[in-house]
Amino acid sequence: MTAHDGSPDAPRLGTQLETPDEQRLEELRTNLAAVNARIERGCADAGRDPDEVTLVVVTKYFPASDVLLLHRLGVRHFGENRDQEAGEKFRAARHALAEAGESELTLHFIGQLQSNKAGHVAGYSDVVQSVDRSKLVSALDRGAHAVDRRLRLLLQVSLDGDTARSGVLPEAAADLADEVAGRELLSLKGVMAVAPLGADPDEAFARLRAVADGIRARHPDADWLSAGMSADLEAGLRHGATHLRVGTAILGSRPSLL
Ligand SMILES: *Cc1c(COP(=O)(O)O)cnc(C)c1O
Repeated sequence: MTAHDGSPDAPRLGTQLETPDEQRLEELRTNLAAVNARIERGCADAGRDPDEVTLVVVTKYFPASDVLLLHRLGVRHFGENRDQEAGEKFRAARHALAEAGESELTLHFIGQLQSNKAGHVAGYSDVVQSVDRSKLVSALDRGAHAVDRRLRLLLQVSLDGDTARSGVLPEAAADLADEVAGRELLSLKGVMAVAPLGADPDEAFARLRAVADGIRARHPDADWLSAGMSADLEAGLRHGATHLRVGTAILGSRPSLL
């Protein structure tokens, strides 16, 4: 920003947006502030401390340039759900950040994952939130060994009882948790869920909270609970969410998948 000199007819430099990037930066700044205000209010209503909540900004379908703008605005946690897109985008984003002397960024993989892609995902993700079966645990463990880095995992819990969709059933979560906890380079951090379409998110997240409590009783370090998106983050906060995954409310509508 250029300060103006105070004389009445001096141009008000800095109030004019010069490039599309600056326009996008302002749009993201406004949306991010609105979401942070919702988080503050949601925490106050739930009697919680906002410092215990991590906002993961979901950048799927949006370019690496948006990741860099959000990073300038202080965002450090990002979420992606498609392997190829995420790998390319975050290689580019991390490279640009490194050139600028910045390195702090945590990437959360939040999408359905085939085990043949798990090795690749283990190469660039820091957290995988969508672990829902044994085969995936083994594949991520092999992937973590191949690149010699530790991966933090969340179990994705199915709250609609339909195993055809993603997520482990609540009654099978404890066994899967034990399996993750037994792997050398995998750290079990907790659980994640998406409220079923059309369901009451409070009812869904209350069930997730019960699964989370059961797992934490056996694995004290598994104290993350990832629940709440653009439409239902307040419900997530009411039921103990430590991680919110917010896309649309910050980046705008995603182009529809054709
Ligand atoms: C896309 C996505 C989100 C973000 O959803 P919004 O409604 O855009 O906030 C959160 N979680 C998962 C698993 C997603 O795939």
